[in-house]
Amino acid sequence: MKPAVKRLTPAQIENYFPGKGCKCHAWVERECCCNTWNSAMTEQDIKVDWTPKEVYVLRNENHELEVRCQRLEQLFLEQLLQED
Ligand SMILES: [Zn+2]
Repeated sequence: MKPAVKRLTPAQIENYFPGKGCKCHAWVERECCCNTWNSAMTEQDIKVDWTPKEVYVLRNENHELEVRCQRLEQLFLEQLLQED
C-alpha cells in the first residue's frame, strides 16, 4: 500500500501558507525550531508545515486524476464483461 500523503481541502489550501503556526519567527524551514524531529514522525505529526502551497495543489490534482483513472479502468472492465 502507498503511504498516506497529507492533502488539504481546497478551502484549507486557500488559507494555507508554508510555516503557518510557526512560533519562532522563522522565514524558512531550516531556521524553524518548532518541529522537533524524530524518525518515528510522520507528515501528520509535524506541528509547523513548511510544505510549499503548490505541493498541496498538485497532490489534489494527482488524486483527482487517480480517481478518474480508476473510474476509466472500471468502465473498461465492465465493457469487457458485457462483450462476452
Ligand atoms: Zn518555528
